[in-house]
Amino acid sequence: MKIICTVEVSDRNLPSLNLPSKKSVRSSLAIGKSGDKELYILHQTNQNGSGKKYKINNANVRTLDNRILRLRNLCVLYLENNELTTLPEQLGSSLPKLTEMHLRDNSLGLGGNWKWIVNGNLQKQLKLLDLRSNKISVLPDKLVKLANLVTLNVDDNRLESLPNALGYMRSLRFFTASKNQISYLPGSIKLLRLECLDLSHYVFCEKLNKKVTAKDFLFVPPLVDIAAACVITKRLYFSEATLPQTLIDHLESASFCVCGKPCFSQQPESYIPYRGLCDCIITTVNRRDFKISVRYCSFQCYSKEERLFFPQY
Ligand SMILES: [Zn+2]
Repeated sequence: MKIICTVEVSDRNLPSLNLPSKKSVRSSLAIGKSGDKELYILHQTNQNGSGKKYKINNANVRTLDNRILRLRNLCVLYLENNELTTLPEQLGSSLPKLTEMHLRDNSLGLGGNWKWIVNGNLQKQLKLLDLRSNKISVLPDKLVKLANLVTLNVDDNRLESLPNALGYMRSLRFFTASKNQISYLPGSIKLLRLECLDLSHYVFCEKLNKKVTAKDFLFVPPLVDIAAACVITKRLYFSEATLPQTLIDHLESASFCVCGKPCFSQQPESYIPYRGLCDCIITTVNRRDFKISVRYCSFQCYSKEERLFFPQY
């Protein structure tokens, strides 16, 4: 049988084995073919872990081989067009140098386990995350913890909204979310300094700007909201070891007032036109039709926004 495929071999010399110079040892390499699909597998040698790039594309892989986690120097991981529904939780702690993850065409939205995002170094190291075509209905709030992510691609999923705290991904410059059902953006998006925002197939927002009155702020917030706002404002550290998951979910669901204060579901919400600063917005609708959802911490904050966006009132 003749197999034709592209083969990339990185780092065939294994310096960590301390072999005499000039003598090289090959990485283990497996090439195969599954049905009529191209199967492209490059196995870096596990013992040495010196490979920097790992690709398993188009291979119908359902679970990731844990031996990959031994590749301590791995920087770029390609797992495109497989059948993955989740990734190992220890991915970030085992691969401390990982900066790019190419996960297009999998089923990560069906698995719903995103704990791998917050473990280990991914929060500090990851620069690129490609989650195109993953059947994702709701992006996990944990995503915004990827503080140094520069490029995020969530095209061709089932999203109707984006995480409230998206704007707190301060390093994000290239964000594409085309081919979804998104009809409004989180208010925090105003904080981003994007160079490119792709919202092709944006769905026109039917939700009208709701008139908010001073009376809407006359309520006593639940204690859990007051405590959560305090934790966020003071940037107190929390993890699964210190808080129950329900409280972590609550903290991560916070949205943010135009002044930056955290808000929760009791605070009045409104939809206002998006006038973000972005060098390049790609969209199929009029830019003026974009709306962002904003919760207000006080009537003063609402009044300020109202004057800015709705001077006719
Ligand atoms: Zn405010």
